[in-house]
This record gives sequence, structure tokens and C-alpha cells, in this order.
Amino acid sequence: MSQYDKLNTLYYLRLKVHRLKIPIYLDYNATTPVDPRVLEAMLPWFTQNFGNAASRAHLYGWEAEEAVTKARTQVAQLLSPQASPQEIVFTSGATEAINLALKGVFEKHSHRGRHIITLQTEHKATLDVCRHLEQIGAEVTYLKPQPDGLITPQQVAEAMRPDTILVAVMYANNEIGVVQPIQKIAEVVHQKGALFFTDATQAVGKVSLDVEKDGIDLLAFSAHKLYGPKGVGALYVRKGIELTAQMDGGGHERGRRSGTLNVPGIVGFGEACAIAQKEMLADAMRLSAFCQRLENGILENIPNTFINGDANTRLLHVTNICFDGFDGEDLLLKLKDIAVSTGSACTSASVEPSHVLKSLGLTDDQAYASIRFSLGRFTTAEEVNYAIEHLIAVTTRAKDSSRKSDPEGKQRPSSNNFPDTLAP
Ligand SMILES: *Cc1c(COP(=O)(O)O)cnc(C)c1O
Repeated sequence: MSQYDKLNTLYYLRLKVHRLKIPIYLDYNATTPVDPRVLEAMLPWFTQNFGNAASRAHLYGWEAEEAVTKARTQVAQLLSPQASPQEIVFTSGATEAINLALKGVFEKHSHRGRHIITLQTEHKATLDVCRHLEQIGAEVTYLKPQPDGLITPQQVAEAMRPDTILVAVMYANNEIGVVQPIQKIAEVVHQKGALFFTDATQAVGKVSLDVEKDGIDLLAFSAHKLYGPKGVGALYVRKGIELTAQMDGGGHERGRRSGTLNVPGIVGFGEACAIAQKEMLADAMRLSAFCQRLENGILENIPNTFINGDANTRLLHVTNICFDGFDGEDLLLKLKDIAVSTGSACTSASVEPSHVLKSLGLTDDQAYASIRFSLGRFTTAEEVNYAIEHLIAVTTRAKDSSRKSDPEGKQRPSSNNFPDTLAP
């Protein structure tokens, strides 16, 4: 089956799905499907080539190790032409990579200081690790971003102390998509002699980042957010930076993370990175046009809607929109034909309003009434058009039944931050 046929099969599948009224997937920030090309690269490593990459005595081990080395190079290349494969530590995902970065650095460097700086709007994986570190003696400053979701390098500079050992600022926010000024923040952090970590799970393979140019010391990301398999991720650790392993036994990954390597997963992760490197720009251009169209379709046709977070400095395939005055739960129930998210998937088990939107200054009701749309490689123009029609139909119906009594009383940013250009 050719590459083209495979993508077509996927497309037909979706058409079928469409007719069967399975919702259109607009939740690529939660997870992405495995690209058929990635799956193809993975398959032999489950069966014929099943060796343990740590087996040094025979062909089975050697070929597995070679495959892991190739993947390690593909992953490093996507992070920077200057990044070396030895700087990549494979993990079970971004959550584990974040745990290794923060706990590993704290444990190794706490004799120099115990202060850590992060953001209120980080992913729970970072926030929960920080809470854990507070239990064992760390002092953590949680910076509050501006109402647009962005943090300024000055805010970081002002929070820095002589005992600050680590600053953790996510590259792109998973809920609202804003992209932080990473390079400038890293500069400030290095001037004060601390290490800089970024959770770049939503940014790698979507925007052109470079750990070398950006001055990143440690970076976490995950395969399943860029069309690779679930259960595999990586931590980039700049050469020379020491951290304490959080998983002991066997000394895999140069003693930084023990455990038999997930060879098929790692091969898939590598392939996903190689594809992203080649297709990132084309994907971004197509998806930004789709996303603009979706956004304009909503903002122009549905009253009291506004974008959460800065409208310009963000991932171009993500938009988080507040349907002010609507009952969030009611809205989500009625939007049966599209799969979207309110808040991040990782917090959807709890019914709390999104901590990110709350930090931006939204009321509880506004946070509940906000929807994240995230587009991806397999999103089509038809799907976007259908989603707009569906949203208009549902909100028109929902308006009378669930509008709150006092929509005017609620804060609402001015509308001049909405781009007007309607993509074709
Ligand atoms: C998805 C996500 C994570 C968690 O990644 P896993 O690989 O699922 O553990 C962490 N941070 C951000 C920003 C994410 O979007």
C-alpha cells in the first residue's frame, strides 16, 4: 500500500465515521492518532525484530540497539541541528520526563539552593511535581501570567533569588496555545546562574524551536502529541547537566532512566519526529488557515464569544473560545457532533474550572463556558465547515434555554484582538 493510499484510507474511514455520526475530532492537543507511516515503521519491532536493546551478545540485541540509536538521532535532530543523541533520555512520556527533570535537578542541586520558579498555568504534571517538591523542602514561586496568558522575562527576573536553582516555563500552553518568550526567559535565568527547563509537549513538531538557540537546558515532550504512539516520550538534558535518576536498576539511558527500552515505541517516536521535521511548515500553514476560519466563523456568528489568551503569540492550530453567558456543561452536552475539550484532558476527571483560565481572570462560569478547539494533520476543510455550522445551530438553540440572567455584568476583553482576515 503506498503512502498516499494509506492517508486516503484514513480519509475514507473518517467519511464513514462522519456518516455514522461519530464526532469530528478537534481535540489534537489531548492526543493525536498515530500517523500510518509511523505505524508501519513500528510494526517489525514487535515481532521479527523483538530484541532487547540492552542485549550485547547477539544480533537480536544489536539490531534493536541500532534502531534505538537511529530514533535517538531523529529525536535530537528535531530539537536542534546541534543537539546530540546522547542528550536524549527516553521515558514513558512527558509526565515522566517532567518528573525526572524537576525531581532529578532538585535532588542533585539542592545543596546550592532550594528555590524553583514556575507558572500558575503549567500543565498539572509540572504543578503536581512542584507540590511534591514543596513537601520535601523546596520553595516554589508560582508566577501569574498577564491576562493574555503570557509571562514577561521581567516577571521572571524579579522572582529570581540567589538560591534559585531551576526555572520551569512551558513552551506552549496546552489549553490556550500561547507561546512564551522562551529565549528571553532563558537568558534571564542563565544570567542568574539557574537552570532552565521547558515542557515543550505542545510545541515540538509544531513550531520551529531550537534548544541551542533558545538556551534550553532541559526539555520534556511526548510522542503521542505529534502523531507517534502513546507511552513514550523524552527528556532532553544538555551535555554536562547532572540530575539524579528517578528510576533505578540496570543503568539504562546512561544511568539516567533504568528499564528495558520500549523499542517499537521509540522507533515510532523517531519516525514521528522525522516526519514532523519535514512537514511541520506545510501542516502549520494549512492548519492556521483552517483555525482562522473556525475562529472567525464562531466570533462573527455567535454573540458574546471571545478568544482566551493572546490572539497572536500562540500555536496557530489551537483556539480556546469563551461562549460567555452559556452554560458550559449544557453546551458540551449539545455539541454531540464534535469532539472538543473544556480545559485540558488531564484535568477533565475533576469538575473544577480550568486553572489556566482562572489564572487569566475568567469567572468560574466563563471558564466552564470555554471550549478548546485543536486541529491537526488529518483535519479537513469539510470538518471545519461542519463544525462551524454545528456550533451556530447548537448555540442558537441553546441561547434561550440556558443564557444566564446577567451576561453584561461579566468582564469581556475588547474585540480588537480578533484577526479579521477570513481564510478561503
Ligand atoms: C499532554 C501533555 C503532558 C503529558 O504528556 P504525557 O506524555 O501524556 O505524560 C504534559 N504537558 C503538556 C503541556 C501536555 O500537553
